[in-house]
Amino acid sequence: MSVEFIDSHCHLDFLPFAGNESYYLQKAQEKGVTKFIVPSVNKSNWARVVSLSQQHSSIYYALGIHPLFISDDYQNEIDLLKQSLQEHRDKCVAIGECGLDFWDPDCDRDAQIYVFREQCLLAKQYQLPLIIHSRKSHDHVLKRLREIKLEKGGVIHGFSGSLQQANQFIELGFYIGVGGVISYERAKKTKMVVSQLPLDKILLETDAPDMPLFGFQGQKNTPDKVRKVCEYLALIRKESMQTISETVYKNTTSLFGI
Ligand SMILES: [Zn+2]
Repeated sequence: MSVEFIDSHCHLDFLPFAGNESYYLQKAQEKGVTKFIVPSVNKSNWARVVSLSQQHSSIYYALGIHPLFISDDYQNEIDLLKQSLQEHRDKCVAIGECGLDFWDPDCDRDAQIYVFREQCLLAKQYQLPLIIHSRKSHDHVLKRLREIKLEKGGVIHGFSGSLQQANQFIELGFYIGVGGVISYERAKKTKMVVSQLPLDKILLETDAPDMPLFGFQGQKNTPDKVRKVCEYLALIRKESMQTISETVYKNTTSLFGI
């Protein structure tokens, strides 16, 4: 049985991988993980994700501003993002990661919403999908996505909302990103949700180096684990690895145009 996977969300440019990317790519390829989408968090790592994609044919990247990495001078950063998008078109497959994170009650919601909206507009202008980070903010994200209708849709990465919210995102043309959280016994709600989603709306991801799977707590997460995420999903959905990997692979290549 040959199965092939794409890690639709991993931060291979982050420090734990620095200098050893080839090793982790090789390790992942041995598990059938053959392509990698590396989102960025703000201008500090745009050049790094671009350069990784130039060194490795299997790596694609996204340019964006993460809601938890917004600088005080965010208008300037948005202008720089526009410039970067103009310069880098080849393997840039999305805008992201961007979105809203209202976990911290003291966060600057207005700034986050402004920066997110600007990136939605860029996604529309450049006909790119969005990679969205949304925590304690699904309804706010939905509101903005309804205001700015995006033809290319995107993915809600590391989704942990309700089935109803997932379906609302799907109606707007979005995929649901499923990661290692489903390996935990306590993630009952998320497991129920992923058991009921249409398979053709699911992407798989690790969010490496974050979000280690059950049994690997305290270690850095790595992109080869996307295969394990698929194993858990197969158990939860009572479907074969083959069925899931084939459909999800197609979902991912069609969303990102790769
Ligand atoms: Zn991420």
